Amino acid sequence: MSLTMNPQMLGAAYLAAGALFILSLNGLSNQETARRGNLFGMLGMLIAVGATILSGRVGNFEILFPAMIIGGLIGAFIAMKVEMTSMPELVAGFHSLVGLAAVLVGFSSYLDPNAHFEGSEKAIHDVEVYLGVFIGAITFTGSIIAFGKLKGIIGGKPLTLPGRHLMNLIAILVCIYLGYMFLQSGTHEAGLIPLLIMTAIACVIGIHLVMAIGGADMPVVVSMLNSYSGWAAAATGFMLGNTALIVVGALVGSSGAILSYIMCRAMNRSFISVILGGFGTGGGAVAIVGDEEGEVTSTTAEEVAGLLKDASNIIIVPGYGMAVAQAQGTVSEIVKKLRAKGKNVRFGIHPVAGRLPGHMNVLLAEAKVPYDIVLEMDELNDDFPDTDVSLVIGANDIVNPSAQTDPNSPIAGMPVLEVWKASSCIVLKRSMASGYAGVDNPLFLKDNTDMLFGDAKDSMDEVFKHLG
Ligand code: NDP
Repeated sequence: MSLTMNPQMLGAAYLAAGALFILSLNGLSNQETARRGNLFGMLGMLIAVGATILSGRVGNFEILFPAMIIGGLIGAFIAMKVEMTSMPELVAGFHSLVGLAAVLVGFSSYLDPNAHFEGSEKAIHDVEVYLGVFIGAITFTGSIIAFGKLKGIIGGKPLTLPGRHLMNLIAILVCIYLGYMFLQSGTHEAGLIPLLIMTAIACVIGIHLVMAIGGADMPVVVSMLNSYSGWAAAATGFMLGNTALIVVGALVGSSGAILSYIMCRAMNRSFISVILGGFGTGGGAVAIVGDEEGEVTSTTAEEVAGLLKDASNIIIVPGYGMAVAQAQGTVSEIVKKLRAKGKNVRFGIHPVAGRLPGHMNVLLAEAKVPYDIVLEMDELNDDFPDTDVSLVIGANDIVNPSAQTDPNSPIAGMPVLEVWKASSCIVLKRSMASGYAGVDNPLFLKDNTDMLFGDAKDSMDEVFKHLG
């Protein structure tokens, strides 16, 4: 009995996989349904991979199966080991692999001795190859640079070469011309030269594009590369004539583009200005807040516990530092205690808090914080004047008032959580160091702000003890 699927069955399987991917995206849009969304995604992928294996168009099983097992084991190992705070690097790393796969599939599909395309079919296939390799190469090197920047191997400062926009434009025009030469070439040998030159140029474009983007704009870069990797996968799907890959690629490409748009809106930036780069400074620098008026005042866990006991309305703003300290469990316990005392406690989540979209939501869900008290920035930003205590846990850039007051700030115009408008603001962090965007934060000097220095988990443990 042959285990090969007929074209109708294959089409139906790919359709089912596509529907599951759409259900998956739908599920992932909400914390309560995210787990189910993940399951749909896994099932869709299982069907897509299984159907492709049984499509009759795949051979060399003696290589395929060991490669799948080794790749699967590596993936499972990395996924189990990775810290939540390192997710963006991991995602960037995976994007680079998608880009590399598109480049390799492009070359192998072009050089495949068994492929015989004629006339318009050949022209279409060649365009698919050229575009796939182009997007793939940009995604590949761009993602490697993003990985380096997110991991701190490469500085967050944007590389602003003189005439960089002109250089990008010339590079793209040269690639278009090479594309013309590639399509006109009569033989594979002649076509290979413009294809190789374009690949090298696209690799440089990818490096340059991401090097020019500053620390503050990295969230957009991650989602933008996510989108590119989707289009690279879709191009690969066209080259291989694989419907499932086209559908998945288009879904990833378009959802990544929508996410980039949302992130840009959250940071009040135009997409084009982010792509053109040059914003933001290096991350993690020591903040020089000397120019600002005011003094830094520090407080103790006992005092903070006292403030919370006296407060009726409390807003907690978590940031990257809460993730680093893994303080979410204690924070959740504190919230439970305060709510039991009848206090109105809510969380304010900034769209770019942490290091990946939804980072804080995931941590709070993990710590079993009820979903209905976790609100988006826009839902509670007007409520700070009526708030007794705002508790900033390991957040910095997302609560920086200079985004509103300093037009020269790299984060100027970015909407921020207006924590300083509460009667008292407590900031938990270890030092006066700046956040990811490397920008000074005058919040720390405000009269109604007190700093609770130390690791956020340790500080929260202490506060919990004193809450009684
Ligand atoms: P920030 O990076 O601005 O600030 C985090 C703060 O946490 C630091 O100032 C640090 O201060 C403190 N911190 C670190 N470790 C601890 C610890 N163990 N205990 C207590 N505090 C700690 O984070 P935000 O969440 O405020 O802002 C996110 C930033 O990251 C934005 O600039 C955003 O653009 C960028 N970004 C976001 C991405 C996303 O998709 N969400 C992706 C990539 C970048 P100290 O060292 O003094 O303790």
